[in-house]
Amino acid sequence: MTSQNQYYLFFKQTEKMKQTSLPLIKKLEQAAFKQAPTFNEATFIISLGGDNSFLQTVRKTGFRSDCIYIGINTDDIGFYTDFTVDQLDLLIQSMQESTLEVRKYPIIEARIDQKAPFYCLNECTIRSSTIKTFVMDVCIDSHYFETFRGDGMIIATPTGSTAYNKSAGGAVIDPKLPSMQVNEISSLNNSEYRTLGTSFVLGSDRQLTLKIVQTGNEFPVIAVDNEALSFPQVKQVQLQLANRQIQVLKLKNNSFWNRVQRKFL
Ligand code: NAP
Ligand code: MN
Repeated sequence: MTSQNQYYLFFKQTEKMKQTSLPLIKKLEQAAFKQAPTFNEATFIISLGGDNSFLQTVRKTGFRSDCIYIGINTDDIGFYTDFTVDQLDLLIQSMQESTLEVRKYPIIEARIDQKAPFYCLNECTIRSSTIKTFVMDVCIDSHYFETFRGDGMIIATPTGSTAYNKSAGGAVIDPKLPSMQVNEISSLNNSEYRTLGTSFVLGSDRQLTLKIVQTGNEFPVIAVDNEALSFPQVKQVQLQLANRQIQVLKLKNNSFWNRVQRKFL
């Protein structure tokens, strides 16, 4: 059973980070929050670090939809880290509110060859691991859409739209729009292979299927956020929005567009 005031803290186990975590642990104790024996019992799962650490925390705790994730940044501002280590009083205050202010973030469910699904908070990327291109048939719902040949594709959540997707020329999407953005990485376009050439955004009930054309030269690598999956002979990847979302504790006056502005403008 979860108890309202139990928390679980995740951070990279270095000496420096252990030191950084001490004032936080002390503040939490003073406010009567207790360390949960495992993350399964915790109401609050706290990540200390950057966005990278937040992505790992959510992955390692199984993308729980029944707890509240908290991101505390150790240096700069981040997209998933509402708080910084200089704002611990504000953090405690926010955790003690009778009605907690949370954001809900859509996540992507990726199924490789009908096996158990993987979840993604930023994106699922499928790309060539060699100097050669690879070919995929792209289907939306059950309809064939295009044949892609090139380096790969990024399928990003709205919150992931500011990461790899953005570097590949994709649009930044408001997390209030549950959707997946499909973005090409260096598609080859000629009379034989033709793709849309721009990224496109799929609504929440769509399914995307990438069927890898088995040419004998295909060596794609699949990544879910910052983790690479190793599957020897992938035939297809099915992607859709998961039917659950994660909840993240929100700092007041720190909207998504606020963070986009601060980070990029
Ligand atoms: P990394 O290569 O060490 O860092 C990637 C950078 O992206 C870091 O500055 C990270 O912030 C930031 N970031 C992570 N999620 C973000 C988000 N939703 N919006 C804006 N920036 C974000 O890898 P990592 O830290 O483990 O992060 C994994 C992510 O890197 C992947 O999910 C992918 O989106 C991204 N990536 C980008 C490229 C590219 O732009 N060409 C290539 C591969 C992967 P922190 O410093 O706070 O961690
Ligand atoms: Mn990083």
